Amino acid sequence: MQLPKPYPDELAGSVWARASARMGVPLETLLKNTLGVRKKSISLLLGQNVTRIAAAMGLDPEVYLSAHTIFPYCVAFMPPEQQMRLREKFISSASMRSSIGSITKVVTHGVMERRFCPLCVSSDLQVYGEAYWHRLHHLPGVLTCSVHRCRVIATNIPLSGKVRIRDHLALPSSGFHELAPVADDALMCVANLSHAALTGRGHILKSSYDYRADAWKKGFGLTTTDLATAVFSNELSRFFGEQYLRNAGCLVRGLPKRQWPALMLRHNVSLQFAAPKHIMMRTFLHHGSTVKICKLELYQRPGPRLPEFSVLDQQIVEALCDIALKLDLMGERCTVKEMMTKARAWQSYRHHRKFFPLTEQFLAEFKRSELAVRQLGGRAIWRERFPTKFGLKPKKDVQKT
Ligand SMILES: [Zn+2]
Repeated sequence: MQLPKPYPDELAGSVWARASARMGVPLETLLKNTLGVRKKSISLLLGQNVTRIAAAMGLDPEVYLSAHTIFPYCVAFMPPEQQMRLREKFISSASMRSSIGSITKVVTHGVMERRFCPLCVSSDLQVYGEAYWHRLHHLPGVLTCSVHRCRVIATNIPLSGKVRIRDHLALPSSGFHELAPVADDALMCVANLSHAALTGRGHILKSSYDYRADAWKKGFGLTTTDLATAVFSNELSRFFGEQYLRNAGCLVRGLPKRQWPALMLRHNVSLQFAAPKHIMMRTFLHHGSTVKICKLELYQRPGPRLPEFSVLDQQIVEALCDIALKLDLMGERCTVKEMMTKARAWQSYRHHRKFFPLTEQFLAEFKRSELAVRQLGGRAIWRERFPTKFGLKPKKDVQKT
């Protein structure tokens, strides 16, 4: 059974829907007669058995894969050898359920429902007499038609998952504008980059892109070697907004240093990131405003390690006990500061009092004891001048004895 020839940029599933409508044959029968499979639906994006589908459409498998599926977009940022391997695997394999799932999930996770551009629809109706589903409008984060530079319209038909049989056969008609608090020029950039990824055009995809160098130019450098990666992730997330990124399958989440924008800034990235993330990254680096990192507030360099306070607390109390014992034996008194200075703990204690509960308790008792100068009252100068008044031995007496 021969299917109609696909229109430019038409998605594979759209051809099946048109064929079913044109021939007046249920999709199930069409699939059985054409591919010999008992199925009630077929993927809008790709479809199994590339060779047989391509033959039914009168196309070369290479042309079918490149021009009517989202395959080129999914592999656009992979190394050329890997792209080639996957392409061969897709074309040669008759049943590729697992491969299809893993390769298309980039798109199915990032596009919630079918979309269309109203100007594309009116142009298609004028030229071909019927409307159809375009690949360009079914890419993650693409809310603008890169051909007409207008916003696309979302429908109530889910792209994948539970789709009603009659929805499989639906063609673009009505829908609603998807709201996104993202600047128009950034959305246009996402659309243009996605278009380039899909068609393999645009040298931007071919050239090696240095995300670190660009992040530096944007002001995210901390030192000559360090980048404020966590701040970068946060700024990217703020730039696009959480809802938009979630819908595009690019939500920024997890520990700041493990978030995907931060990981993409690593030296010699060995991880492979999905196409939409590369596109969001490049759009942000191009359109995000330059920042000024407040280094001291955000990324203080780690100073010397703080001591283990509980251990130090006990050591100080032991030292203070020794000092108190000697004071008692000598019949002397001292101040808290003198005592703590002797124990070599005054500075630590002054700056981190709350971490030394045992010391604090000891000092509270010390202040009430006969060993504390404080118990005598009066200022030091008066105690020196009138020692006997404060219960101290006169200096002369001390000298005599
Ligand atoms: Zn359009």
